[in-house]
Amino acid sequence: MDGRGLPVLLVTSLTNIFYLTGFRGSAGAALVGPSELLLFVDPRYTLQAQEEACGVEVIVAKRGLLRAVGAWLRKRDARRMGYEAAHLTCAEFGRLVSDTRPRVKLTPAGGMIEELRAVKDEEEVARIRQAGRLTAEVFEEVRGQARAGVSEADLAAEIEYRMRKKGAEGAAFETIVASGTRGAFPHARASRKLLEENDLVIFDLGAILSGYAADMTRTVYLGEPGRKVRSLYQAVAGAQQSAVEALREGTKAGDVDAAARRFLKARGVGRFFTHSTGHGVGLEIHEAPRLGRGEKVRLRAGFVVTVEPGVYLEGLGGIRIEDTVLVGVDGPEILTPAAKDNWVLS
Ligand code: ZN
Ligand code: ZN
Repeated sequence: MDGRGLPVLLVTSLTNIFYLTGFRGSAGAALVGPSELLLFVDPRYTLQAQEEACGVEVIVAKRGLLRAVGAWLRKRDARRMGYEAAHLTCAEFGRLVSDTRPRVKLTPAGGMIEELRAVKDEEEVARIRQAGRLTAEVFEEVRGQARAGVSEADLAAEIEYRMRKKGAEGAAFETIVASGTRGAFPHARASRKLLEENDLVIFDLGAILSGYAADMTRTVYLGEPGRKVRSLYQAVAGAQQSAVEALREGTKAGDVDAAARRFLKARGVGRFFTHSTGHGVGLEIHEAPRLGRGEKVRLRAGFVVTVEPGVYLEGLGGIRIEDTVLVGVDGPEILTPAAKDNWVLS
């Protein structure tokens, strides 16, 4: 904040508020300064805020959160404040301007907390590791139920039920089960379609545990795959492995993406890989950094990212393999340890 000349930052993203204060309510605002951290909540959250936001000064705003923020700034005679442009509606911004007029200059300062969040500490890594293990376990259990005649929606429901049974808060995102030609849409939702013999089936799942998410994809084949499907699967698995191996401190995010792309291109299937290689995972399922073409961000120890190359062929289906991976001091560590070699279910 010093570098940007900002005495205080108004934080309105609920995820960022949780990260900074521990408060998990559905409404609130935080102010961060060099020596202060304040949490503004409405009267519904008085007790919850005191309990969750340990060591944080809690201000109960009876007549609007932003009005209380304005009053605090006036009292401190603050002249400048950063705000999170991506997490403030136009209406809220208008209110903020009128509540802080004419003294406080408002400066968009997005992404600062997200940057901090990209590097996970040991406690955070432990939570994601636990979420990843649970996700892998659930998949290993449900994989055996994938057979002709079972619907995609049934399998998705079974996955999400088992996540909760094992202690997860729930699924971090809507579980994807996409079979046969439907697998060619990278983000197909689980439908009533029944699995059929000779279908490729994509499972994309992730549990959320103690606030932290994991993200994993496995693809299976029902029956005896032919040469084409086998070589496609090997190409994706190889691309995934080479991108995982590229996850080293100091490497550019774009170079990890390039490693996956290079592998698929060498197998002649690069054109079927239609999305970026991965994304950060943590309190949110998609967060910084992005592992995409030309991304210049350098990886740091403590980053947790997905590596998820895939190929999508119209009329045939899709193959994607995804792990959540920690960029460790001693190299990459896979946090979603479900097997990838037993993909043929015959
Ligand atoms: Zn995923
Ligand atoms: Zn993902």
